[in-house]
Amino acid sequence: MDKELVVVIDFGGQYNQLVARRVRECNVYCEIYSYKTELEKIKAMNPKGIILTGGPNSCYEEGAATCSPELFGLGIPVLGLCYGAQLMSFVLGGKVARAEVREYGKIEVDVDNSSALFTDVAPHTICWMSHNDYIAVMAPGFRVVAKTDNCPVAAAECVEKGLYAIQFHPEVLHTVEGSKILYNFVRGICGCGGDWRMDSFVEENVAAIREKVGNGKVLCALSGGVDSSVAAVMLSKAVGEQLTCVFVDHGLLRKNEGDEVEAVFGPQGNYQLNFIRVNAQQRFYDKLAGVTEPEQKRKIIGEEFIRVFEEEAKKIGAVDFLVQGTIYPDVVESGLGGESAVIKSHHNVGGLPDYVDFKEIIEPLRNLFKDEVRKVGLELGIPEHLVFRQPFPGPGLGIRIIGEVTAEKVRIVQDADAIYREEIAKAGLDRGINQYFAALTNMRSVGVMGDERTYDYAVALRAVNTVDFMTAEAAELPWDVLKKVTSRIINEVGHVNRVVYDCTSKPPGTIEFE
Ligand code: GLN
Repeated sequence: MDKELVVVIDFGGQYNQLVARRVRECNVYCEIYSYKTELEKIKAMNPKGIILTGGPNSCYEEGAATCSPELFGLGIPVLGLCYGAQLMSFVLGGKVARAEVREYGKIEVDVDNSSALFTDVAPHTICWMSHNDYIAVMAPGFRVVAKTDNCPVAAAECVEKGLYAIQFHPEVLHTVEGSKILYNFVRGICGCGGDWRMDSFVEENVAAIREKVGNGKVLCALSGGVDSSVAAVMLSKAVGEQLTCVFVDHGLLRKNEGDEVEAVFGPQGNYQLNFIRVNAQQRFYDKLAGVTEPEQKRKIIGEEFIRVFEEEAKKIGAVDFLVQGTIYPDVVESGLGGESAVIKSHHNVGGLPDYVDFKEIIEPLRNLFKDEVRKVGLELGIPEHLVFRQPFPGPGLGIRIIGEVTAEKVRIVQDADAIYREEIAKAGLDRGINQYFAALTNMRSVGVMGDERTYDYAVALRAVNTVDFMTAEAAELPWDVLKKVTSRIINEVGHVNRVVYDCTSKPPGTIEFE
């Protein structure tokens, strides 16, 4: 294998996928493997560098996650982060112990710029710490190259052996110069050229899928969202006519969205997908009638989706492969990290169909982060407005309508949301805000319009900024934009007489309402 690879060895820490992501941002391909992976297997991959992640254990305790000392003698540069740093020093003869003062959060650190890790890094900078243990005595042969007030070994190196240890977390954005430090490691110390690009990913994977599928038949559930669209187009590039895509319109999509998806992926579009649209709107509304509890609504929508998909699949008959748009965060979120290859049992289509006859699942995006999926999408020529779509929940507007879902309420929230999106785009704010949408509250209140009393619904507007969708802040939208949206919604959308703006951050709120 001549491709440059950095291996991230997973010790079970919280930020492991971030490590992989930051490395890839340096245009270096990397993969995550469990610490249980045999050393022979890692060696056979011929990585240019190895990164050991953080982890919950204390390395000096019985049964703690560990690694073979041989790992440090392969002649491959190794960077230990937090637990990985502690483990490196422990395995090589240093001393790790419980610290008197645990460090958590943003901490000032002094770095020694003569270390290749800290090239162009400010000598006094902010890092993110999260540890109870500390390296009391670094292993022999190492030189300390960073410290904080409470941490005598915030970083150390043994240049001759290519070994580097960092107690803090450069992968977390709070570490101001973290990306630069990781860049210094993979591009500088490991000497990676940085030629990992999405075009090479697309080319290699299309070829690999073609080989795997052979003459087989492939079925894909297209939700119209970014992930399933990109997966479908990739399959279509690979196997063309052998692919059939089923798009279930559950009647809970944004305004005109079903038609937009059809325009791009249907027979009039540019792709060969054998696109089948199922208009199942009424079926979903019937099932949802009278249901108000959010979890129950989600379940009904997810299950019905699968039933509709199955019925369609039965008409097609047995297939060899089923495509899923699973992406890397789905894999990690299901608690598997780099430690397992079990396939997640559900994704954006809401579950695996029980009765579809297939032999194997194909997940072409399984190793990619969302922003990488978007790059692949652009690479495949999918229109920008689809590629840069905001995250949209699988149950769709079903969970943006608080309380019972009815066809009329869907129409109200679709119209309000379309106005909101139009005005945000007009104000040039659409790429700046990470997620925004209108929701329909279940509250009706008294108003006056045209001298007449009204008793109608309140629409809630939501707009948030977030880096990772784990935490979020309400966006400070300009008042004139909010005023314009409010007046348009009240004037143009029937049965709405009040518009409110949601100022809640996450936590304690969630981004979606249900
Ligand atoms: N468990 C170790 C400690 O508490 C390492 C923590 C980590 O990797 N974030 O110090």
